[in-house]
Amino acid sequence: MVTRMSDNSIYLKKLRDTNKLDEAEFIQLLETYTNEEFLLAQRMAREIREEIYGTKIFIRGLIELSSYCVKDCYYCGIRKSNLKAQRYRLNIEQVMSCCFKGYGLGFRTFVLQGGEDPYYTDELMVEMVSEIKKKYPDCAITLSLGERSFDSYQKLKKAGADRYLLRHETGSALHYGILHPLDQSLEKRLQCLKDLRSLGFQVGTGFMVGSPGQTDRDLAKDMMILQDMDPEMVGIGPFVPHEDTIFRKEDHGPVEKTLLLLSLIRIMLPRTLIPSTTSLSSVDGKGREKGILSGANVIMPNLSPMDVREKYLLYNHKAYVGDEASESLENLKVAMKKIGYQVVIDRGDSETKKYIEKLNLLCTETKAIKGVQNV
Ligand code: SAH
Repeated sequence: MVTRMSDNSIYLKKLRDTNKLDEAEFIQLLETYTNEEFLLAQRMAREIREEIYGTKIFIRGLIELSSYCVKDCYYCGIRKSNLKAQRYRLNIEQVMSCCFKGYGLGFRTFVLQGGEDPYYTDELMVEMVSEIKKKYPDCAITLSLGERSFDSYQKLKKAGADRYLLRHETGSALHYGILHPLDQSLEKRLQCLKDLRSLGFQVGTGFMVGSPGQTDRDLAKDMMILQDMDPEMVGIGPFVPHEDTIFRKEDHGPVEKTLLLLSLIRIMLPRTLIPSTTSLSSVDGKGREKGILSGANVIMPNLSPMDVREKYLLYNHKAYVGDEASESLENLKVAMKKIGYQVVIDRGDSETKKYIEKLNLLCTETKAIKGVQNV
């Protein structure tokens, strides 16, 4: 019997060989994939990830800076009009003590994430970033503080911030409008990402899977944005409802589709850094392992002070204790070892950056050799 390759496995091979698919091909793949094709995508993603990053897992210490927010994203538990949200802010001393604890545990990247909180002025953030850099020069600082001005991003970069995470949330402007109030736009979000890129940040973007109103066509748009942008980091995770939002009755996003998308992202952007996210672990007890086995190579345990963790509630049932906590790093190492991976002590920069630096060096050397020959 002759077995014919399905269109979808042809698309997967095309994605692997060229790192590109067009939007219609992504739509077809997402709408019609079979379990076999899902497993094929996972296998390809694992192979590619191991070719580039081996079996290393990079860890980031997540410090949740503030639960105040001026934005009103309809899905988010800390949006400004949720009067029930518990609000807090961390000061520099608290952040420094998180870093101290994190450094001792082996973290070499600190991620400062929070709601959009004007309390954290440029001056305050510059002071905080400079202080962390001064004390821990061998660590990378990632910021995830939402939309700020070009000028503000520039000051943060100058102060020593290395990376910035800003998910575009959904690649369709129409769908963006379902998830956000009128004064927020996909266009603005993408402009911020461009600004960050032009300033030399390693940039991370991403989206939620299964958010209310999302279709496979929207997800295909997400994939096209990633393909065009080729970011150093991509974070995706299932949407999870929060009881004090208009989406409280919605189902959480599907785990398997999140895993398929993780694999597709790894195949399309082989060198990108992809976390196995907290939202994935929050909806599936084995989510973190499943994410890693689908091509992810980063985990971001929670390093925030214990008493604020339950206040940074973006969605219900958020995992922040147990294996999601930095205190359980040893358990995490064991869990990863069990599936064949090793947690490493490393800044964990994107191989893209190293790759470009290598290419630049090669160019300079080639030019130098040519220069010598020309003499
Ligand atoms: N203020 C920052 C950080 C936002 S919180 C910013 O604007 O980038 C980090 C991420 O959590 C968001 O980008 C969003 O994708 C995710 N998130 C928020 N609410 C969520 C929910 N209900 N379910 C799943 N993910 C959610």
